[in-house]
Amino acid sequence: MKWLLPDGVARLLAARRDIARLLPRAGAALVAASAVVNVLLGLLPVLFVVAGALVLGRVPAAVEGGTGSPAFDALIRAFVLAAASFVGQQILAPAQQALGESVARRIDGRVLDELMDAAMSQPGIAALEDARVVEDLRAAARELESGVQSPGQAGAGLLALGARQIQLLGYVAVVGFAFSWLAAAGLLTAVLLFRHGHVGGLRKYAGARFDLGSQEMGNDYLRNLATSAEAAKEIRVFGLMRWLQDRLHSSYTAWLEPLWKIRRAIYLGPFLWYTLWMVLVSGAALAAIGTGAADGNAGQTLTVFAMVLQAALGALRLAEFYPESDLQTAIGMHAYEAVRRFTDHLDATPADAAGEMRGDEVPEPAGVIHFDHVTFRYPGEDRAVFEDLDLEIPVGSCTALVGLNGAGKTTLVKLLTRLYEPSAGVIRLDGVDIASYPLEAWRAKTAVIFQDFARYEVSAADNVAFGAVHRADDTEGVRRAIEAVGLTGALDALPRGTATPLARHLEGGAELSGGQWQRLALARALFALEHGSSVLVMDEPTASLDVRAEAGFFEEFTSLTRGATTMLISHRFSTVRRADVIVVLDGGRVIERGSHEQLLERDGRYAELFRLQADRFTDDDDGAGHGVPAEVLS
Ligand code: ADP
Repeated sequence: MKWLLPDGVARLLAARRDIARLLPRAGAALVAASAVVNVLLGLLPVLFVVAGALVLGRVPAAVEGGTGSPAFDALIRAFVLAAASFVGQQILAPAQQALGESVARRIDGRVLDELMDAAMSQPGIAALEDARVVEDLRAAARELESGVQSPGQAGAGLLALGARQIQLLGYVAVVGFAFSWLAAAGLLTAVLLFRHGHVGGLRKYAGARFDLGSQEMGNDYLRNLATSAEAAKEIRVFGLMRWLQDRLHSSYTAWLEPLWKIRRAIYLGPFLWYTLWMVLVSGAALAAIGTGAADGNAGQTLTVFAMVLQAALGALRLAEFYPESDLQTAIGMHAYEAVRRFTDHLDATPADAAGEMRGDEVPEPAGVIHFDHVTFRYPGEDRAVFEDLDLEIPVGSCTALVGLNGAGKTTLVKLLTRLYEPSAGVIRLDGVDIASYPLEAWRAKTAVIFQDFARYEVSAADNVAFGAVHRADDTEGVRRAIEAVGLTGALDALPRGTATPLARHLEGGAELSGGQWQRLALARALFALEHGSSVLVMDEPTASLDVRAEAGFFEEFTSLTRGATTMLISHRFSTVRRADVIVVLDGGRVIERGSHEQLLERDGRYAELFRLQADRFTDDDDGAGHGVPAEVLS
């Protein structure tokens, strides 16, 4: 069947079929109600034309027969029919709109849910760290939320299009039955061709615009940059305003000029041709109807003339842009295609095995966490971050990871928390592959403060409770964690204490300083430790703390985390040196390990880096400066 259809028509049908497949998301009852209303809205105008013509044709006989005559009764019946079909349209038009909106809202809600489910369903973060996938996710969310036309509106638009098509077929059938099938066919093709030219152009234009999407995103970025509070400081201090304005202008021009060119090419030529065809056919059909009536051919009564003329004009009026469906069906699906592109990526993401479900809880760590000949490369990367890494982390003590930027410290944490799975080798806890534990259970055992920890725009208390959300009711525990990181005073001073939402744009909200946010993240990890986690990983936990706070940090933390297995990544030797074991990573390998004193004695890489730092801070009593520059260590 496919090869019988011209390419454009086949594509159009496929697009319509895709939209129709979205409809069940709105629920059968709602879609059925909307479909019935649209069918009626398609039939009623045709019925009105037929009944109106009957009224007109019956007037002479009714006048002759007088009130009460059968001819008069027939006139009244036709009039009631015409009036009913007219009033019916008036009543149903708002119903069509209201039902359409409900259909659209429900579909959009479901599609958004599907998008969110897909994004959250990934046990790991491989997909979400892939720039292409993130771009598709962003495009999909943007299209769904701010796109003027949504998949839901495409669905509602398709139903509304049904009303117009039924109406067109109704008029054409009236012309065919009452006058001539040739004229009916001519009218139908003229209307369809004109619409094809118009709507097909719209679709091509939408496609072209979508192809320029990355350019448009560039514009969005620049516009957001100009209006965001984040960059406002730098833009002013560095005097970037002028540059930003120029870039915005040139970026918009670079986007609009090709778009205007495409629009001219798409619309102008076809528009002239289709219009010409339309004028010729409709002229011929109307002339034929007119001459038929003038000749007084058999059957050309007043009724038939009025009916055919009205139906022909009604059909020709349908050769126009349909505001309730054309744009929606042409553009709305782009958002859905973006969603599909995103979910397709997810299926293709090979990492993130969800773990063989043994159902056991993870036993308390007793001996050692062992990276046993672990090789790992990021998906799509040739270079391995770790090649045959062999690393033992003793349970119940503090291990610091030291290494230059890019040595693989953060990647190690991602593997330990199973945000990624090793490409080869095994990570064992007391001899058991951690991948054999249920993922959730394993993650409940670990508490991590990433370098780029999350700042949740919820209350301060919830920010802490998220460490063990199943125990969010433990307000005492939350308070203890806040107390432990020294935030009680600062949080109690907020308008609503620890219930204050931590974002200034929220009502009654407040903003914390960088250091306070970091303490809050530490409190979150402590709360997790209190409720079942026993492996604590801290990636640059003191980066935003001042020198004094940092000094206090380690003392407090060692007592608070006693018994827990702690991994510490830090570029501050004042923090690192107090760890029980220090592991120096280089190029994905362990090159040194031992205590601070042992490593200094060994006089290797650690000692070299330590001295480098000490030299820069010669007046630092203990020789452990606080500010090793990030380009040296991270
Ligand atoms: P460190 O924390 O020691 O600075 P990382 O673990 O962040 O090092 O990075 C180790 C290496 O892996 C670096 O070469 C980095 O470029 C690369 N890398 C980190 N994250 C990704 C990622 N999501 N995709 C591809 N490569 C990555």
